[in-house]
Amino acid sequence: MLPAYISHPDCSQHEMGAHHPECPDRIAAIRDQLLISGLLDYMHPYDAPLATAEQLARAHSLLHVRELAAKSPTTGYEQIDPDTWMNPHTYRAALRAAGAAVLATDLVVRGDAPVAFCNVRPPGHHAERESAGGFCFFNNVAVGIRHALDVHGLQRVALIDFDVHHGNGSEDILHDDARVLMCSTFEENLYPFFGSEPKGPNMVNVPLPARAGGAAFREAVDICWLPALDAFQPEMIFISAGFDGHREDDMSHLGLVEADYEWVTRQIMQVAARHAKGRIVSCLEGGYVLSPLARSVVAHVKVLIGAD
Ligand SMILES: [Zn+2]
Repeated sequence: MLPAYISHPDCSQHEMGAHHPECPDRIAAIRDQLLISGLLDYMHPYDAPLATAEQLARAHSLLHVRELAAKSPTTGYEQIDPDTWMNPHTYRAALRAAGAAVLATDLVVRGDAPVAFCNVRPPGHHAERESAGGFCFFNNVAVGIRHALDVHGLQRVALIDFDVHHGNGSEDILHDDARVLMCSTFEENLYPFFGSEPKGPNMVNVPLPARAGGAAFREAVDICWLPALDAFQPEMIFISAGFDGHREDDMSHLGLVEADYEWVTRQIMQVAARHAKGRIVSCLEGGYVLSPLARSVVAHVKVLIGAD
């Protein structure tokens, strides 16, 4: 039983213009580093399926699903927000990214894989129930979480979001669902420019100031996340794994390094071991400078699959 590595060539067909930071090369850079590091030898590769409308509708309105399908251009680009565009392949890539979270959930809940890492794009955590934006179209982790709860019958699922931006989409979808605990750290005064005021009692939002650094990040996890997670006793953990808080990523100023991603992954593993039979699904979110992105994913996945 090997850890699952889930991706799909369609995820590299979506692109938003030549100089857009959320670029197709992210997928290849991560895959190459996982390959070179030898970690892929210890993982079972799967192709991400297309998410169905029924699966998407557990996290989004059907209107949102249909509107995105209708906006899909046959040539050129369709603008969704100031930073987010669809090309003719975007809709299919977004279905693959959400489908990856569903497959990962099935594999991990059924015991066919101990953990899963989804190397997919577009990312998802800014996609709200009714809207796309912030490079995101469907909320991949929220679709996976609702699949775990509604299809597999789990009672309590935790979402951990260490992307440098707040997962406003995940909070929008999950804030009134008592079966979910969401723990998030993010740099304040960055897109989406809110999150400091949690929308529900199941939201542990920890804004960090610019240049906070790894020590402040680890302190937030220790003081705010871990007690909440132990009290909640999740049966499964999802990770919105964004690596744009790395000090070499020009999207942010938090100043994290690979060792911080390794450390936080180890904390999550320990929570999962205590409460969740080790069950973790990790989905790629941000991370825009290819070298630190790929190195950080290697640090994360090495701990995730127990190869550290
Ligand atoms: Zn981000």
